[in-house]
Amino acid sequence: MEPASVEQKPGEILVFFVRRDTQCAECGDDLFSGTMITLEKERGALCLSCADLEHLEFLASGDAAVTRRATKHSKLRAVVLQWSRTRKRYERQGILVEAEAIESAEAECLADAERRKRQAERRELRTAELDEVFVSEFAQEIRQQFPNCPIANANRIAEHACLRSSGRVGRTAAAKEFDPDAIYLAVAAAVRHEFTNYDILLLRGIERSQARSRVRDKVQQTLGEWGAVRG
Ligand SMILES: [Zn+2]
Repeated sequence: MEPASVEQKPGEILVFFVRRDTQCAECGDDLFSGTMITLEKERGALCLSCADLEHLEFLASGDAAVTRRATKHSKLRAVVLQWSRTRKRYERQGILVEAEAIESAEAECLADAERRKRQAERRELRTAELDEVFVSEFAQEIRQQFPNCPIANANRIAEHACLRSSGRVGRTAAAKEFDPDAIYLAVAAAVRHEFTNYDILLLRGIERSQARSRVRDKVQQTLGEWGAVRG
C-alpha cells in the first residue's frame, strides 16, 4: 500500500480501506480487507482505535454541502481514500468527522432547503400580487378611456390582457399594454367578441376581415355608449 500518490494537505489525516488483510502495528488486531486504517511512515498500518480516530463517523461523499459543513464543524477530521485498481489512483470515498458535526451540517442544509422553499413561495405570492395590481391598473385605464364601460367588463378585459402578457413578456413589456392604442384595441376586441355575432360569423367560415367589417358599426356603437374618448 503506497499512499505517496495522494496529496496530503498539512493537518489532514488520511484514512485508507485495507486492501489485503494485515495487522495493526500497535495493538496487533487483525485488520481485514475493507476496514479503515491509517498508515504511519515508521510503523505502517494502524487501526482507527490506535490512531485515535475511532470516535469519528464516516460520511460518504455525495452531498458536497453536507461534507463541507461537517468538515467545518468537526474539530478532528480525516479524509477516507480507496485505491482504484482500474484508475490506478487513490480516490476519495468520504470523510471521518464527529457525529455532532454531521448532525449540525445536515440540520443546516435542511434549513437551507426550507429557506429556499419559503423564498420561492414568497416570490410566487409576489408575482400573483403584481398581476392583481396590473389588472386593476389596466381596468382603471380602460375606464378612463371608456368612462361608461361597466366595471365587470373592464375587469374582464384587463384580466384577459394580463393573462396574455404574463405568458410572454415581463413587467416592462406589460407596462406597454397601458398604451392608449393598446387599450382601445383590447376593448374593441372584447366588444367584438361579447356584443356582436363576430364569433358566429367566424364559425360559419366567413373571412376575418369581412366579419370585422360586418360588425364594425355595432362595435362603434357600443364603444360610443361606453363613452369612447376617441374612435
Ligand atoms: Zn490497533
